[in-house]
Amino acid sequence: MASFEVTVLGASGGPDVGATQCFLIRPFGWRGLESVCIDGGAGSTQIAKMLAGETRNGLTESFYERDYEPVNRFFDSNAPVRQGLSDSTLHALNNSPRITSYRVAQVYESIKGYYVTHPHLDHIAAMVIDSPLIFNSQIPMNKTIWGLPFTTDALKRFIFNDSVWPNLIHSGGQRLKTEALADQVTTTNSTFTNFEVTPFRVSHGLAAHHPREKISSTVYLFRDKITDHCIIICGDLEPDSDEPLLSKLWSYMASNIPLHKIKAIIIECSSPMTIKELYGHMSPARLAKELSHLQRTYGYKQRPDMNVIITHVKNYCSPKDPRLVILDEVRQESQKLGLQGIRFSIAIKGYTFYL
Ligand SMILES: [Zn+2]
Ligand SMILES: [Zn+2]
Repeated sequence: MASFEVTVLGASGGPDVGATQCFLIRPFGWRGLESVCIDGGAGSTQIAKMLAGETRNGLTESFYERDYEPVNRFFDSNAPVRQGLSDSTLHALNNSPRITSYRVAQVYESIKGYYVTHPHLDHIAAMVIDSPLIFNSQIPMNKTIWGLPFTTDALKRFIFNDSVWPNLIHSGGQRLKTEALADQVTTTNSTFTNFEVTPFRVSHGLAAHHPREKISSTVYLFRDKITDHCIIICGDLEPDSDEPLLSKLWSYMASNIPLHKIKAIIIECSSPMTIKELYGHMSPARLAKELSHLQRTYGYKQRPDMNVIITHVKNYCSPKDPRLVILDEVRQESQKLGLQGIRFSIAIKGYTFYL
């Protein structure tokens, strides 16, 4: 049985304005409309499109070999995924007016907060542009932006500063607030009290202008206290170089969570193997190597039974959809390393995974 509903509002690594990384998460079968988001690259516009049923049946946008591809090409044949918002969300909307804008407002109001991985625009844009809706509503609502201090500080200094965007954090009577988390310190989500959330700082390459300055990002580990199931959701990241960061995450997992309890790893793989300059991101070979590292940390007596859902693929000029290229390459690289028990899929906007 599933423990998590993960709706993909956006999963592009850009440029795809309004559809970059954002996952809406709730406990499986939750009766209300409440949710939390990981990142905020997509938001109310995507919710509206899903509620209006814009997505073509069985097809998804591609704009490469064909403009629309059969969506099942992007999923493992056993991936627990269905089109649209989760069944329980739609059920909770049953008695609402049949006007999409009302329903969008209700789903948006019920987003209790955002766990932001890092403050790059493709991870925050829609969260910021949607934020005035918090104050337009008749219904009092509060949202919290959680993140490691490098994220919450940057949002306060460089985004909500009355120059780039109105300072809704200080002027808003606490309706929108930031809350800094500590690296590797577990907190319980205040809405979903069975969800424990642990952030891990990871590396995201070097600054473009100051190549000695390191850029950080975050991986969030969500654990359901009742079922002990976990999902790992990554922001942008690269393998460890001089600091053990990802290896600390794998060791933490191996010490605290049985391998078969990891339901899914949602992880970026920005570019296929032909792209050599990765700018702090993963490639299919790097991703397979990390999964092999995880298996090695657990030892070979435990076998995984998990979904690896690839997100943040960058669009570029090419004859073939880079997501399909990456999916093939990741499967091949994993086979070379002898990995077993992993189902690979691509995160496709407008679809919900039941994990
Ligand atoms: Zn980034
Ligand atoms: Zn990004």
